[in-house]
Amino acid sequence: MSKIIVMIGAPGAGKGTQARLLSEKYGYPQISTGDILREMAQADTPEGRDLKQIMAAGKLVSDDVLADLIEKRTSRPDCQNGYILDGYPRTVVQAQQLEEMAAWQKKEVLLVRVVVFEDELMKRLTGRRTCKKCGEIYNINFRPPQIAGVCDRDGGSLSQRADDNAETVKRRLSEYQSATAPLIDYYGRNGRLIEVDGQLPVDEVFEKLCHVIDNFGIRAA
Ligand code: AMP
Repeated sequence: MSKIIVMIGAPGAGKGTQARLLSEKYGYPQISTGDILREMAQADTPEGRDLKQIMAAGKLVSDDVLADLIEKRTSRPDCQNGYILDGYPRTVVQAQQLEEMAAWQKKEVLLVRVVVFEDELMKRLTGRRTCKKCGEIYNINFRPPQIAGVCDRDGGSLSQRADDNAETVKRRLSEYQSATAPLIDYYGRNGRLIEVDGQLPVDEVFEKLCHVIDNFGIRAA
């Protein structure tokens, strides 16, 4: 049965970085709801403006918008053999909707939690910079580029996300505690959640994740 790999973790835990590496290795598309919503928020329409406001405040977008978005995106042909969810589900309602969707898509869900302590998350998020061209992620505190503001890979310019300032980060972390942390109980109760220490260096986290995934019977596409 083809798989849905779900990355769960606080903002800044490294879900996106790991999802990207997994996508390169296994050939599954990485579906980042944050990236899709940021794109939708660019539209100069009532919906676009609404999304922009919600995200800039560090709040969660409604479950209905997410259900529609995720259903549309995962019904594209590139998702047929499996896909990686990065940033979804983020509420118990979304988790229930995902279970239903997985059942009719005839896919099995593998849940991986990337665990990082809260004081570390703040430093990671406020220091994060992303290449505008290729999406490579840097951190001015932990993994600075060789030249400030410039991507090592392709020379693209680096930007900071609008919601990575200290005030919005606090709000996002509190949303995570109230809305998303209950998911850990929801999935943890039936022993389906696999945990990986996200404080380790990126390549070690990746190695552990690959180990878990290979044991679960996923092969590169
Ligand atoms: P991320 O890039 O995953 O940190 O997401 C950035 C922002 O997009 C979040 O702070 C939310 O406003 C919104 N968002 C992303 N995924 C979801 C989701 N599954 N449910 C609700 N809001 C989301």
